[in-house]
Amino acid sequence: MSTVSDLAGLAPRWDDAHARRVVALRVLSSFAMGSLVLALPSFDPNRWWLAAVLMVGVPISSSVIYLTTDRTRVLTRVTIADAVWVSIAVVFFPAIYLEALLIGLALLASVASESHRALLATATVVLAGFVAGGVIHQPVQWLRLLAVFTLLLPLLVFVANVQRDRARQHRARMRHRAEHDGLTGLRNRAGFADVLVTTPFLSVIAVDLDGFKDINDTLGHEAGDELLVVLAKRLERAVGHRGVLARAGGDEFTIAVFVDDVDLVANDVLQACRRRVALADVDVSIGASLGIAAAVAGVDGTELLRRADLAMYEAKHNQGGIRHWTDSTRSASRTRVELSGEVEQAFEDGQFRLFFQPIVDIDTGVVVDVEGLLRWEHPTHGLLSPAAFLELVEAIGRRATMDRLVFNEAAALVAAVPESVGVSVNISAGSLMRSSLPVALEASLVDHGVSAERVTIEIIEDEMIGEQSTARTVLTDLGAMGVGIAIDDFGTGHSSLSRLRHLPVTALKIDRSFVSGVVSNDDDRAIVRAVADLGAALDLVVVAEGVESLRVRDELIHHAIRVDRIQGYGIAPPMPMDEAVAFITRSVETKHPTRVLA
Ligand code: C2E
Ligand code: CA
Ligand code: CA
Repeated sequence: MSTVSDLAGLAPRWDDAHARRVVALRVLSSFAMGSLVLALPSFDPNRWWLAAVLMVGVPISSSVIYLTTDRTRVLTRVTIADAVWVSIAVVFFPAIYLEALLIGLALLASVASESHRALLATATVVLAGFVAGGVIHQPVQWLRLLAVFTLLLPLLVFVANVQRDRARQHRARMRHRAEHDGLTGLRNRAGFADVLVTTPFLSVIAVDLDGFKDINDTLGHEAGDELLVVLAKRLERAVGHRGVLARAGGDEFTIAVFVDDVDLVANDVLQACRRRVALADVDVSIGASLGIAAAVAGVDGTELLRRADLAMYEAKHNQGGIRHWTDSTRSASRTRVELSGEVEQAFEDGQFRLFFQPIVDIDTGVVVDVEGLLRWEHPTHGLLSPAAFLELVEAIGRRATMDRLVFNEAAALVAAVPESVGVSVNISAGSLMRSSLPVALEASLVDHGVSAERVTIEIIEDEMIGEQSTARTVLTDLGAMGVGIAIDDFGTGHSSLSRLRHLPVTALKIDRSFVSGVVSNDDDRAIVRAVADLGAALDLVVVAEGVESLRVRDELIHHAIRVDRIQGYGIAPPMPMDEAVAFITRSVETKHPTRVLA
């Protein structure tokens, strides 16, 4: 793609200020030369005329040209006008031909680097003046001068070429700097826009790293930079000749894809992101969210980039991976924008509430715990799930309010169901950074008169950042209160075993992506077994989530996989508080296995 910047390097560098400077300089130097001519010893009266041309004629013609000509042609035209003056002087005042010749050469030099056409035009005018002067006055003498002049011309052309190349290279370098990222050497946003504008029929991929902020926060910016440099190289290799990679800023990359199979490129990029990166001090792993906008006739590059961004945003909010832009992406993003303006009102109107999904003992089928899952009962959009609004709530800084709401509802439910049943609530990593979290939970428990032992906090595996001291203190405080701590979506993240030992963890929830595969996929079954064994060895409660049918439960039992509890649509869906209380009470009192969906 070097052609793009090459072409760009030729772009005119003329602007008003430059044109004004050039003309002013020309007028001043011409005036100075006029004074010099007057000051020379052995004064020839003919020089009066030359001085008049230089001090009056040239300034007048230059000003007129400056005022009437397009600024990119000012220098050329002014020089040609000056050459005309010189020619006139030579023809009418032959005695000063030497001075005129010198001035003619100076003019040629001044315009030489600008353009060959200007150089030739000026040379022709000056030559014409000398030829005419020679014909009219003394042919021999003039012919000699003419020969010198003509011999000098190629030299001037050569100098002009060298100078022009140098200027072009300089401009190309400046342009390169403006269009590339200093850290990774990749194109930046402007450089990428250039590719999109100049090359038709490209598909666009937007890439955003997952978990980059954590690395920046915990390991420092230097490590973050190092990671970006390594990843940039790796991604460049992954893309290869199939497209152009750019760094759009921060931990975002964009790719313009030349080939038909944009999915293949996206897949390779995702794999490249997911491979471990060895930094100076530690090895880290990271994920990525990718959005794809395929080339469509009539849709320009800017729009494609916007679409890829929206699709990437969607991928980000659905556990990463790759998303394609579709019409629904557009409406989803519009809805998101609308919703963000309604969050405050929703708090006031009490539109947020917890739904509760039962968790049952795998052997008895009786409810032992229940997970609180947030819902927004939106007046026009209906029941919205957390993926649609949690991010918005956090973005406007209402996370703490939301946590209090969750704690309150969870405590209210626990107070209304039999003693043997506990409640689990989800807490995001951001909440763990607030040292007041345990106090907020305590307040809700006191309000409803329930004990902390009946509450479990669920934290997504990848969000448990062991290095962060505030989070660790909060978890330790919660543990000391008697609150259980479950690692959610276990198996999808990168938590280390040592972390499990050092935090007051009490339960593991095996991610539903593995659980649903237990029936048909040997690998998934092996993973579930390994996690279950690990949990048993560490004396943790093991919960299999996403049990969508009783076959899954049967399969777990059949293969003697040691899971303690199961949760999923196959047992019961999340339901509103009243329904949940009735469901739980019935289950505990009758001790009958729970089964709403066969
Ligand atoms: P999660 O903690 O993994 O919650 C389980 C999700 O799986 C819930 O989605 C639930 O409705 C769904 N689910 C339950 N059984 C099945 C099943 O058999 N099959 C399948 N495919 N899915 C099942 P939901 O309610 O949309 O919640 C999504 C995520 O939002 C939760 O994932 C949790 O990470 C987050 N979340 C929910 N409530 C809260 C909250 O109060 N605070 C915070 N910070 N996050 C929350
Ligand atoms: Ca959960
Ligand atoms: Ca989960």
